[in-house]
Amino acid sequence: MNIKNKLRAGIGFLFLMALISSGMADYYLTRLSNDSKAILKDNYRSLVYAKNIQQALDYPTSVNTATKLQIIEANVSKEEQNITEPGEGQLADSLRGNFEQYKLSLNNQQAINGLNIKMRNVLYNIMQLNMAGIERRNAIAQDTADKGIILVSLIGSLCFLIAFSFVWNFPGYIANPVKELIQGIKEIANKNYNKRLIFPVKDEFGDLADAFNQMAGKLNEYENSNLASIIFEKRRIETIINSMHDAIIGIDDKMFIIFANKVACTLIGLPEDKLTAQYAPNIAMENDLLRNMLFVDQHKMKIFADNRESYFEKEVLEVTNDYKVIGKVIILKNITDFQQLNDAKTTFIATISHELKTPLSSIKMSLKLLEDARVGEINTEQKQLLKNIDDDTHRLLHITAELLDAAQVETGKINLNFGSTHPKNIVSYAVQAIKSLADQKELTIAIDCPDTLPNVMADLDKTTWVLINLLSNAVKYSPTKSTINLDVKKSKNNIIEFSVKDSGQGIDEKYLARIFERYFRIPGAAADKTGTGLGLAIAKDFIEAQGGTIGVESEAGEGSRFYFSLNINNT
Ligand code: ADP
Repeated sequence: MNIKNKLRAGIGFLFLMALISSGMADYYLTRLSNDSKAILKDNYRSLVYAKNIQQALDYPTSVNTATKLQIIEANVSKEEQNITEPGEGQLADSLRGNFEQYKLSLNNQQAINGLNIKMRNVLYNIMQLNMAGIERRNAIAQDTADKGIILVSLIGSLCFLIAFSFVWNFPGYIANPVKELIQGIKEIANKNYNKRLIFPVKDEFGDLADAFNQMAGKLNEYENSNLASIIFEKRRIETIINSMHDAIIGIDDKMFIIFANKVACTLIGLPEDKLTAQYAPNIAMENDLLRNMLFVDQHKMKIFADNRESYFEKEVLEVTNDYKVIGKVIILKNITDFQQLNDAKTTFIATISHELKTPLSSIKMSLKLLEDARVGEINTEQKQLLKNIDDDTHRLLHITAELLDAAQVETGKINLNFGSTHPKNIVSYAVQAIKSLADQKELTIAIDCPDTLPNVMADLDKTTWVLINLLSNAVKYSPTKSTINLDVKKSKNNIIEFSVKDSGQGIDEKYLARIFERYFRIPGAAADKTGTGLGLAIAKDFIEAQGGTIGVESEAGEGSRFYFSLNINNT
């Protein structure tokens, strides 16, 4: 039975009980009332009539006989019509007979006295009979009242017991399953999907338990299938990670190693079970490679692996969850082959540039000789051709020099010749070198380099080379008759900043990050098709080798500002 029907039945039953008890009370009260009415009607009136007759018989002689007889006649007649007790009829008849004789014997005092006694006897018997009747009826009424009290009390007690048990049990009947349900939901929230509810009754709570159990079952199924797919995915990723040639290590936010692939284990020199779930700094204390991976901010690493000098590039990827870093993955990319090719390329370029320098210089020398009139007269056309050859040779020499510089930088062979020098020296050397180029485009170079600036600690040649490079780029990319600003100023942290600002075509934002890369040239940039894309890369190496920084600010169409900074000489 469902709760609704149970409630209906319970309350309905109580209501019925209350109805029955009130019906019973009503029934017994009516019976009592009837009994008392019967006493009044049947017996009490007969007593009254008898009493009236007796009183009339007792009237003194002064009372009018006719009135006396009239009263007796009326009461005898009433008594005759109120026969309620067995034997009362004969008594009434005898009373009537005596009274009839009494009326006839009015002149005979002696007969009257005898009849008076007789009538009084009959009246006495009638009264006795009715008194007995009253007692009997009273006993019946008493019995009815007792029965009524007992029955109503019984039904009242039953009602009370039922209502009490209802009030006592019903809250628990509702609250207990609800409590169990809350407990069950909490278990589900804690991922205990094996929790089941057992309500033996087949009511709404039973249905609720069935629905809950169904939900828990489904969640369990889902969790298991989810778990299975997660395990599958984990294995798949493990397989991929293990088959990679790069070393990969995963570390959680508390610096415990979560995983390390085969390559990482081989490089570190420890088996996987000695790495996973271990506190990384503990192992790093005794393992150089792991220490370098975790704590040294070094992009490129040289490690003896695979029985040879191997090169690795370190990449650290942060693992985030809702913008919170929950760990990191360190990848060591094996770039040995690439490095070897790069070395070969650098050596090749260095050799070629070096080898080209000699014949190119001799071509230049020969051209100088040809220009000399003592060697022989040449006509204007030939002169022009020779000039073209000279220009190209000059450009070739410039390119080979840059390539050689780049090769030197790549092989780490930058020889720095540090000295204390005033920024003005660097500026004037560079401006001198670039002047004729700037003049060709009628450019103004506005210099702001205060005398009050302190000396910088720098390699004069290499820094001048960098500034010339920036200026020559500015010249290349500036529109004719524009101004190039060359500013030198002291910035915070004991640093001097050199900046070259032009009003040329500027650089698109997407290329800014790559501008200092080797051989990078902006695709489709109009000016100077003969560049190598090495100038800025070499400039970066030269400046960084001196402990400085180099950068650019630019917007397409708005011109560019290249700057580099050097340390002040504090000695
Ligand atoms: P190169 O000038 O030999 O091509 P650089 O390394 O000096 O090589 O410059 C790389 C590229 O950066 C250039 O090809 C050019 O596209 C861009 N660039 C350099 N300086 C400027 C500048 N002042 N304005 C616009 N683009 C520039």
